[in-house]
Amino acid sequence: MKTLHELEFDNSYARLPAIFYSRHAPTPLAQSHLVHFNAAAARLIDLDPEQASHPDFVDTLTGRRPLPGSDPLAMCYAGHQFGHYVPRLGDGRALLLGEVRNGAGEKWDLHLKGSGETLYSRGGDGRSVLRSAIREYLCSEAMHGLGIPTTRALCITGSTEDVYREQIETGAMLLRLAPSHVRFGSFEYFYYEQRFDELRILADYVLAQHFGHLRESGNPYLALLREVIASTARLVAGWQAVGFAHGVMNSDNMSIHGITLDYGPFGFLDRYQADFVCNHSDHRSRYAFNRQPDIALFNLSCLAQALLPLIDSQPEAAAELAKAELAEFEALFTDDYAARMRARLGLQQKLPGDQVLCDELLSLMEDNGVDYSLLFRSLSEPQPSAARALFADPRACDAWMQRYQARLQAENVPAAERSRRMKQVNPKYILRNHLAETAIRKAADDGDYSEIDRLMTLLQQPFDEHPGMDSFAAPPPDWARHIQVSCSS
Ligand code: AMP
Ligand code: MG
Repeated sequence: MKTLHELEFDNSYARLPAIFYSRHAPTPLAQSHLVHFNAAAARLIDLDPEQASHPDFVDTLTGRRPLPGSDPLAMCYAGHQFGHYVPRLGDGRALLLGEVRNGAGEKWDLHLKGSGETLYSRGGDGRSVLRSAIREYLCSEAMHGLGIPTTRALCITGSTEDVYREQIETGAMLLRLAPSHVRFGSFEYFYYEQRFDELRILADYVLAQHFGHLRESGNPYLALLREVIASTARLVAGWQAVGFAHGVMNSDNMSIHGITLDYGPFGFLDRYQADFVCNHSDHRSRYAFNRQPDIALFNLSCLAQALLPLIDSQPEAAAELAKAELAEFEALFTDDYAARMRARLGLQQKLPGDQVLCDELLSLMEDNGVDYSLLFRSLSEPQPSAARALFADPRACDAWMQRYQARLQAENVPAAERSRRMKQVNPKYILRNHLAETAIRKAADDGDYSEIDRLMTLLQQPFDEHPGMDSFAAPPPDWARHIQVSCSS
């Protein structure tokens, strides 16, 4: 276990040509203090969790004191936002402090969000607020607990500095960890600038750093596209199965590692609603829950487009090759999603009719205002018929329940064993909006961070019972039904 000063940095991105980034130091916030620290994330970089109580810890991670070995920079990227290409985005309020190598040889970006203006701020204040830092912190840990690939978060620091959003809030910083912060939009930037030499440098860098196993393949750039298509299909299948809506699936928020990146106005389904929109500024419902697989494919097409000059020097040949890879997405997604839903239903065998059984359940749930997570947890009991009570009209599910019981017979697994297995894939605790909201209110109004702590414990082990904590598994209370998550973060 290391101190902050002993971390081993290897800042490979900072060694790329200057056009890839802009160097900046973080701009500290007034009266920075630690809001929460994630010991599980600290272990990823071999950082001793005791470091969090060191008097210099906050100052070192928020720019008031130097962090030895770091080389802070804002990464340059572009991207398709709500379907429209924006030629230059970049880290407008975040910095890559550096890349830390752990004892196992893995590299982790230390990425500080809310660290002040950069060359890419485009008139924004370069800041993040405590509310959105808490949401990202809790949700990335929740996703990890659910087994869905994601960035992680090491800590949140708060401040007394006012930051203006829809109302006055306080500035905060979030220290995020990820294998890298290269996005689909990183490639798009060089492609649309027609800087194909730099495009190749980026692709070669990514291959060398993260996809070494693809370098010997006949066409490494096509192989890279294939791998990102597959990991993104798995990622979105995970989102759909667990009921997670990302909210801002712009191509600059899509990681080449197939991990969940950039938590803004995200939402988990409470009641099942296929076309749920969590982002209230998304007036055309572009990022509705049930559109996420299509949007993922759209974003992958943007990535493919950007890689065309590398895939083949003949544009038509390159396009044919890329198209053939993109055509795989639907089957990759569908198979993975179906497997996850079979597991959620306790079905180990794959029989014809399973998908219909699942789709029928979803449509019954939608018609009857049934809570998505509670329903699957309830079906996981040795007596699945307990789930009836969750339906507005319990008789509505009787015919389905009979078919389900008959289907379970075919599995021939004892009820207790089925229940045990199902509870390992059907979480009891998810990050419902109202839970995040309560933690935010306590933190922002009273400086009380205990609710963050409580939620972290539950969300890190969401499949466990946690006796006495049942109220945290419940659907939103009436006061919370109409919370609108602010999309300004
Ligand atoms: P996001 O919606 O957080 O993915 O951000 C999209 C783009 O806007 C990125 O380039 C961000 O760096 C930039 N951005 C978002 N909020 C701010 C802000 N408060 N100040 C400067 N840039 C921002
Ligand atoms: Mg973003």
